[in-house]
Amino acid sequence: MKQLTINPSMTADLPDVFEGRHFIDGKWRDGRETFERVSPSHGVVVSRSAKGGVAETEAAIEAARRAFDSGVWSRASGKDRATILLKVAELIEADVDRIALQETLESGKPITQARGEVSGAADLWRYAASLARSTHGDSHNTLGDDMLGVVLKEPIGVVSIITPWNFPFWILSQKLPFALAAGCTVVVKPSEVTPSSTVMMGELLEQAGLPAGVCNIVLGFGDPVGSLMSTHDAVDMVTFTGSTAVGKAITKASAGTLKKVALELGGKNAQVIFPDANLDDAADAVVFGAYFNVGQCCNSSSRLIVHADIAQDFIARVVALSRDVVFGDPLNPDTQVGAIVTPEHNSKIDGDVRDAVAAGAKIELGGGYLDVPGLGRQFYQPTVVSGVTPDMEIAGHEVFGPVLSILEFNTLDEAVTLTNGTSYGLSAGVWSENVHTCLAFARRAEAGTVWTNTWMDGFPELAFGGVKQSGQGREIGRYGFDEFLEIKSVVMRVGRTRPSWVRSRVA
Ligand code: NAD
Repeated sequence: MKQLTINPSMTADLPDVFEGRHFIDGKWRDGRETFERVSPSHGVVVSRSAKGGVAETEAAIEAARRAFDSGVWSRASGKDRATILLKVAELIEADVDRIALQETLESGKPITQARGEVSGAADLWRYAASLARSTHGDSHNTLGDDMLGVVLKEPIGVVSIITPWNFPFWILSQKLPFALAAGCTVVVKPSEVTPSSTVMMGELLEQAGLPAGVCNIVLGFGDPVGSLMSTHDAVDMVTFTGSTAVGKAITKASAGTLKKVALELGGKNAQVIFPDANLDDAADAVVFGAYFNVGQCCNSSSRLIVHADIAQDFIARVVALSRDVVFGDPLNPDTQVGAIVTPEHNSKIDGDVRDAVAAGAKIELGGGYLDVPGLGRQFYQPTVVSGVTPDMEIAGHEVFGPVLSILEFNTLDEAVTLTNGTSYGLSAGVWSENVHTCLAFARRAEAGTVWTNTWMDGFPELAFGGVKQSGQGREIGRYGFDEFLEIKSVVMRVGRTRPSWVRSRVA
């Protein structure tokens, strides 16, 4: 065990390098090759993972297919499924510290935030358990005296789950318990950048007694693991969270077998501020929305659309609050904002800011790399860019960093046009004390979620997802659960009332 210095008076014990293995058909398997992850904040190797290839991916898909067809899970009662999901929730809660520390070391997110995400994930498992016991379709008793129709819901089959690096445990928990609650079997591929917490999830599933083959985990890269999971004949559905570019590639790749594809993709989300809003609360939410997870968040409110009458004052509030946000060492419990995931991504963020300035935007704050004493340069300053116009690249492009772009409006119509003026449609927010303004905006915003006088509150009960190029399908809530279910109509005749079709049989 190594020690890391967090600040002159604080050190942290670094766990041994986490050795990640594949989990296939209930067995842990080493890889013929491995890959390593270096912590973005501390520059040390924090995990070494088996690198999956075609053989491991095929073995995992075949195991999931066999498990599904055997009925061991797909035909188990809702009560039996729920019992295991509830057990997993308990095991997550007992293991928060270990999982959160690994998540922080791999992703660079603050430890306090990681603990919140891991313990919050347990609630997604509990909610999914409740759905396992309340799955039901419809019955139609009005089809005529001699007919009865029953619409059944059945698990869709084998599901490929492909996740990104920015919220590895949380996003896995937005998908996996819902697929399992529905009776599906799965193959999971976490991001190659943050694979370990998914392996830890595999350990918890094993401890909870999930039958072999129901959840299989293959570690590795998009090519070949993710692409095979998107094209294989034995897979019925792919659920993917990640970039819009890869989402499009998966949609194309899966078309050959016409699988169902659910996609949670990028966003360029706006918070819109009307002059009658509670400006203190709104400014705080704008700052939170811009810097949470260093802006590496699909739901980041990377655009502020503010009424021209209050723009100057509001920008000053946002800049002042931005200075108070604690950027720094992710292992320090006081840190609110941590490291950027890779050096390449940090350069890309900086390039986007430079391009915005070249296009005529003005830097109100930040706009450069951040040096955290004792750590590397894989941090970026809180950055506020004003004078952004809709024609600028930064107005519509996902920067995925702590960079807030500011546009101004004068009327509700203009605010709606600016909000909807990107190819994305994940989420949007409106701040006003006038309920009519909020409702008018909420109805016209092209987004899967609209927050009024708040930002990024979420609940397992409420569906999440995007419109336009932010995705298709929904996750969590009953609608998210339904994505993993197939519909079957059973049409029944009551009594021997069916008229013969062949004339010779007619008496
Ligand atoms: P990414 O698209 O690069 O990778 C996501 C996953 O896809 C990884 O596991 C990767 O290995 C895999 N992959 C890569 N190429 C593939 C291929 N050809 N076939 C199958 N799988 C492949 O995304 P990322 O960089 O990990 O995550 C950041 C992106 O995710 C951002 O655009 C962000 O907005 C988006 N995101 C969206 C949501 C949402 O819910 N809408 C949530 C989090 C992140």
